[in-house]
Amino acid sequence: MVQLAGRPSSNPDRSRLIRREILIGGTVQGVGFRPFVFRIAAEHGLTGWIFNSERGVTIEVEGAPDHIAAFQAELTGNPPPLAVITTVRTTDLEPVGYTSFDIVPSRSGETRTANVPSDAATCSDCRREIMAPDDRRFRYPFTNCTNCGPRFTIVQDIPYDRPQTTMAGFPMCPECGREYHDPLDRRFHAQPNACPVCGPAARLVDRAGKPVPGPGDAITQAAQLLRWGMIVGVKGLGGFHLACDASNQAAVAALRERKRRPHRPLAVMARDLQTVRRLCRVSPEAEQLLTSPAAPIVLLELLPGAPLAPGVAPGLDQLGVMLPYTPLHLLLLNEGPETLVMTSGNPSGLPLSIDEDDALARLGHIADAFLIHNRPIHIPCDDSVMAVSGGAPYFLRRSRGYVPAPVPVAKEPGSPAVLGVGGDMKNAFCLVKGEKAVISQHLGDMETEEARANWKRALDHLIRLTGIEPVLVSYDLHPGYHSGRLAADLPAERHIQVQHHHAHLAACMAENGLAGRAIGLVLDGTGYGTDGAIWGFEILAGDLAGFERVAHLAYSYLPGSEAAIRHPLQAMAGLVGAHLGDVGLVQLEPLLDREGHQQVEAARSLMRSRINCPQVGSAGRLFDAISALLGICRRQTYEGQAAIELGSFAMTGRAYPVVMTEGGELAVAPFLRPLLQDVLRGFDRRLVAGRFLSTVVEMAALGARRAREITGLADVCLSGGTFQSPWLVRATEERLLSDGFRVFRHRTVPPGDGGIALGQAMVARRRWQSGCV
Ligand code: ZN
Ligand code: ZN
Ligand code: FE
Repeated sequence: MVQLAGRPSSNPDRSRLIRREILIGGTVQGVGFRPFVFRIAAEHGLTGWIFNSERGVTIEVEGAPDHIAAFQAELTGNPPPLAVITTVRTTDLEPVGYTSFDIVPSRSGETRTANVPSDAATCSDCRREIMAPDDRRFRYPFTNCTNCGPRFTIVQDIPYDRPQTTMAGFPMCPECGREYHDPLDRRFHAQPNACPVCGPAARLVDRAGKPVPGPGDAITQAAQLLRWGMIVGVKGLGGFHLACDASNQAAVAALRERKRRPHRPLAVMARDLQTVRRLCRVSPEAEQLLTSPAAPIVLLELLPGAPLAPGVAPGLDQLGVMLPYTPLHLLLLNEGPETLVMTSGNPSGLPLSIDEDDALARLGHIADAFLIHNRPIHIPCDDSVMAVSGGAPYFLRRSRGYVPAPVPVAKEPGSPAVLGVGGDMKNAFCLVKGEKAVISQHLGDMETEEARANWKRALDHLIRLTGIEPVLVSYDLHPGYHSGRLAADLPAERHIQVQHHHAHLAACMAENGLAGRAIGLVLDGTGYGTDGAIWGFEILAGDLAGFERVAHLAYSYLPGSEAAIRHPLQAMAGLVGAHLGDVGLVQLEPLLDREGHQQVEAARSLMRSRINCPQVGSAGRLFDAISALLGICRRQTYEGQAAIELGSFAMTGRAYPVVMTEGGELAVAPFLRPLLQDVLRGFDRRLVAGRFLSTVVEMAALGARRAREITGLADVCLSGGTFQSPWLVRATEERLLSDGFRVFRHRTVPPGDGGIALGQAMVARRRWQSGCV
């Protein structure tokens, strides 16, 4: 038991004292909460005790009423940086005459309902120490404290204590041990506490795993290689990155070629905020995200003439940027180039590499050298990606720094624990129990065996950390989804299928606390519809239990089915063929080269035979088709490329005519015909692209108005992967607001498929509750 004698109260008269029990819930363990309370109790002359309890922390304080009030104000008003207080319950009791303030050891079996903290970027105190030549942690790449450092990625089991983390193999030296046990030290109970004497160390090795000889330590050497234009695999917090100098075009081109990633924009890590400002426009909201403990990649508007190799984000007006979030990154960026490409270290379709052997085997043909270390990563966790639109931040990928912090949802009394397994692309799953939804790290596409094995491991891990054992399992309606098969293999009382876009709507409703019915405007890539067609431009009306489809984009064909996603010309042929017929297809001729001509011909024969040619009404495929028509993107090498490039290319223009049929079909021909004519007449394609974007917004608004007329609802939820575009979110929101709607967007889960698991779980839970499963 740690004790500190309390300062005698200013009024020792027992009758004027009170004793108060304070129960605090939220993320309050492993974040320096107990030393903080210990310190402020002493400052306010209070006695009593604190311990980590099952639900958070329990405090009892005794002292003068005004001192306790001041203590409580500081407790809730100025908690440690990583603490998140969600509940405070107080009870006043008879004083018992405590003489000291104690930190009582944790009770066994505690912390099941307390949250395991997320990984946090290096705090300013630790930064100072790393940069101070007289500090014992000068240049130490694994410096951390209770306010920062690895958490989720090193925790193997709970309670969150050092022996249950990958730091178990590093016994603390006497000096680290002293810090760890001193309640007034910043490293009191900092589980990953370490120093150069006792902690992990970095090494630089070549592709064969042999040490690279040279002057200086591993980081200095790696920095030198990067300055020379080489590619270095860097072991970070949640996995390996592939790094190279972001201002060196030859290095960037080599990385792209070796990783076989021709176009997909690469994320950049910049030395500091000043460096970011030389590359991009940084709004106050974006600055806050960049410098937050989560330190995500933030999508920013690129400045013209930014000092960056053109191959980093080819053809785009946006760049994903992050700041160094571990001491190792800080040192590397300080000594190496001021901007590094930092792309995830995984061959496409495969999970992130987390250990050295795996990285050498799988990335050895890409990296020239590897900067590694001996602190094991227990579970892979990709970087998070965020965007800001109209001053509001939202997730494109919710992962490192946010997982496993729960998302609050409304309670369904008596409902069992639920798992939503997510979809097959950009997968994340979600565990829901009571008022807590815990969403997994980004697990990517489910195409490969390795990805699915990684998924199962991540599920076991999160079930262990949260103690949420799912009784219901929910999954997508798509009969061919791998995630559906994984769901079916899991033991559960009931397996419940949820339509893809209903899950999108439900996720947006749940995180905005909408309990009744709402309109869902879901602009998406592909999702399996209840009629077997591919949906994705949906105006729905519904609640968590069910939905009706009020309006949607008129169907086209998708020759080649979902494989056509890689070839936007096929989507274009399907769109033109379905709505303008052979006449339209013939008109396309002058816009095509030989290869394009062949692709369109092949698509035509698929359409004639109706083989491998499903019906599709999706915003994603509509963007693909128009992007191909305008000659912006005719080969798609990453998901959403055609739409992103179209967005970057467009200037503003007014909408083409939008028309809706009696039955709620948004017609294509009325806007496609004049659009095609404009292209054939050689009008400025940037303007045509802009007019198309406005058309999409107008169609969405028309659909929403129909939904309001039919249902009387005025709350609209915006969801679906197409809303990853900051421009489209803002434009649609403004348009709907001017039409008198209340508009809700995603704030805590991504609008794309990374967010559907939450919706699946919420729908399954409600259906179970209302007995309709
Ligand atoms: Zn720190
Ligand atoms: Zn030490
Ligand atoms: Fe989707």
